[in-house]
Amino acid sequence: MIPASTAARLTSATGPEGGDWRLHWRDALTDPAELLALLGLQHLSTQLPAEDAGFALRVPRGFVRRMRHGDARDPLLLQVLPQLAELDRVPGFVTDAVGDMDARAAHGVLHKYHGRALLIASGSCAINCRYCFRRHFPYAEEMAAASQWRQALAHLHGDSSITELILSGGDPLALATSKLEALSAGLADIPHVTRLRIHTRLPVVLPERVDATLLAWLAALPLQKVIVLHANHANEFDADVDRACAQLREAGVTLLNQSVLLRGINDGTDALAELSERLFAAGVLPYYLHQLDRVQGAAHFEVDDVRALDLVKDLRARLPGYLVPTLVREVGGAASKLPL
Ligand SMILES: *Cc1c(COP(=O)(O)O)cnc(C)c1O
Ligand code: SF4
Repeated sequence: MIPASTAARLTSATGPEGGDWRLHWRDALTDPAELLALLGLQHLSTQLPAEDAGFALRVPRGFVRRMRHGDARDPLLLQVLPQLAELDRVPGFVTDAVGDMDARAAHGVLHKYHGRALLIASGSCAINCRYCFRRHFPYAEEMAAASQWRQALAHLHGDSSITELILSGGDPLALATSKLEALSAGLADIPHVTRLRIHTRLPVVLPERVDATLLAWLAALPLQKVIVLHANHANEFDADVDRACAQLREAGVTLLNQSVLLRGINDGTDALAELSERLFAAGVLPYYLHQLDRVQGAAHFEVDDVRALDLVKDLRARLPGYLVPTLVREVGGAASKLPL
């Protein structure tokens, strides 16, 4: 259910509030010391790593406002704050954890699973999540969106087994809506593609991105539309995110969510149950709960499989089946994500 305050805003507002989303994008925090000071945690500045290991802090101010003041263990803060533990070298944690860097770099098209082609649409994100494989991925200039999506569209044209196009990244909604329009125009003469799926964290971390232009594009698309959000904790939701989700659904989009199981952030039955309930309150169904990709610098986030399975078992005892995400791991070369 959408809170009454949001519902009132939905009926009264002519468009999303907050102006051009790109201003919010550019206004993101990039200085860890400034972030800590904003949260009243300046005394922790001495514990920051001296260098950012090539993956800077980046977090939109709206997301910072959802963090608890004075709480060094805040689950949103821990997703973005550089930690000394990132510098540890742990065996098994590598720079290409899912093993497809070559395929990714080649032309931005990944076609590993039956019926679904995935485009690396953009290398940019509004937020830098410390656990992400993206911290090591050398995004080539040549994303799928380059040269008017030509190579990606040619691949789709040539393979009639592909019924679903997935835009991933980075974050595909980092692209201007005009770029997305160019893609959908190119899809018009590829009748076997009937579904468009977008993997994005932007409606959660920068809900201003869900603006009138994006909504108009989605509403007019002659395809089935799925957006898979990425939220890891119930506290990531507020009235602005609820507004974005409600408007996406009004535009005919089915909303799902994927999370990553993260030690110290959401590795408890209460946290996972609250996340599922909060997602559903926003009109979003939980889809996947990912075991961490074993990315160099992210070992301190890992939850072992035995504990992960226990957590999901507890969750199943507590929630309706439709609020229990599938626990999966990505294994290079497999025909799908692998359920544990
Ligand atoms: C994760 C992924 C998909 C989507 O898998 P679903 O199980 O359909 O969500 C598709 N292609 C690639 C390459 C992927 O990594
Ligand atoms: S790809 Fe997703 S998880 Fe990785 S940094 Fe971007 S928003 Fe975060």
